[in-house]
Amino acid sequence: RRRVVVVGAGMAGVQTAVALREQGFTGTVTLIGAEPHQPYDRPPLSKAVLLGKAEGSAFDVDFEALGIELRLGVEVLGVRPADHELDAEGGPVPYDVLVLATGAEPIRLPGAEGVPGVHLLRTLDDAERLRPVLARQHDIVVVGAGWIGAEFATAARDAGCAVTVVEAADRPLAGALPAEVATPMAAWYADAGAALRTHARVAHIEPGEVVLDDGSRLPADAVVVGIGARPATSWLSGSGIDLGAHGEVVADAGLRTSVPDVYAVGDCASFPSGRYGERLLVHHWDNALQGPRTVAANIIGEAPSVYDPVPYFWSEQFGRFVQYAGHHTSADTVLWRGDPSGPAWAVCWLRENRLVALLAVGRPRDLAQGRRLIEAGTALDTGLLSDPGRPLKAA
Ligand code: FAD
Repeated sequence: RRRVVVVGAGMAGVQTAVALREQGFTGTVTLIGAEPHQPYDRPPLSKAVLLGKAEGSAFDVDFEALGIELRLGVEVLGVRPADHELDAEGGPVPYDVLVLATGAEPIRLPGAEGVPGVHLLRTLDDAERLRPVLARQHDIVVVGAGWIGAEFATAARDAGCAVTVVEAADRPLAGALPAEVATPMAAWYADAGAALRTHARVAHIEPGEVVLDDGSRLPADAVVVGIGARPATSWLSGSGIDLGAHGEVVADAGLRTSVPDVYAVGDCASFPSGRYGERLLVHHWDNALQGPRTVAANIIGEAPSVYDPVPYFWSEQFGRFVQYAGHHTSADTVLWRGDPSGPAWAVCWLRENRLVALLAVGRPRDLAQGRRLIEAGTALDTGLLSDPGRPLKAA
């Protein structure tokens, strides 16, 4: 009986264990996670869990019934592929097949380490520490107007806090979206009563105050840092497993790593996208749901599987439902559907006459239809796409 060991008990690790059983794997499955909590879902942490509308977000999975051995509160420290063995807190763990699913960890703000009142938002513990902060309804400074920053600012405004978001770029979501698409989103902050300071950098943080590099001082009962995340792979250095420029595990199209019998999936790994012709490192939930099915299929080995998804994610911010499918580059053509100052609109990215990506705000049907067009790679009469009154379909 083969032993599969999965490191990381987040979405990707849990889904890998579940997919192995769903696909009929009868060997041993061990899921090791550093966090002490029952495995849980992260998206609610910046939404319902943060606001106390949900107690927690534990996955509804009966690990015992599935024959999945859970080892929680155990950090894995290293791997010796030649020995097929992990080094973990509490001793070595042998494996026949290893799955790396250690996710990502938030990037810390230099100089903010250990300063009281400075928070990250990645784990259940982080969210639990932030709940009482919101309940105090004081001044909060959010560093970074990315996805996490926007969602946290939304929750903090809902809770009645005074919120200032400090962003180094000239607009929100500068790393993810082009200026013409993201610039209108700055108005969402203002509408929600959150101050957005662009072109602003934190010089240092003092108790109760954030000092910006232009000398201005922002009162801050708490500071929440949301400036991005990087793959949690430092424990793999020296293992011989190839890591990429962002520290991610470099996987192949079947989500295998450079080392035999070792797979990688979720936020910690990049994969070559045949569809987009480049390597993708995706830090979104759907990738941690879909990738594991490929990993499980390739471990079982009866029907080899290639991972070539149309990436998808959503964000709930300032009362809006934002969804994105696909992948675009700055060379793709942007086409608008509707008016970005209105409550519902979408943006298409086209490569020649094919849809490669779509951003939908309050237009879930556009997202669903667009995703199908992207998946199918259908050639389109692109002139028709800009009419928001027409469904997103091939002519
Ligand atoms: P993770 O969820 O990071 O899980 C990895 C696990 O591995 C962690 O529990 C970690 O403790 C453990 N681990 C790490 N190193 C070790 C080690 N050495 N030994 C043992 N265990 C280890 N995506 C969306 O698409 N939409 C959203 O609205 C959305 N909202 C989000 C809100 C928040 C607050 C956050 C943090 C993320 C959100 N995401 C969202 C992203 C999504 O949650 C992630 O893409 C997803 O969690 C990735 O799953 P994963 O299993 O790869 O990694």
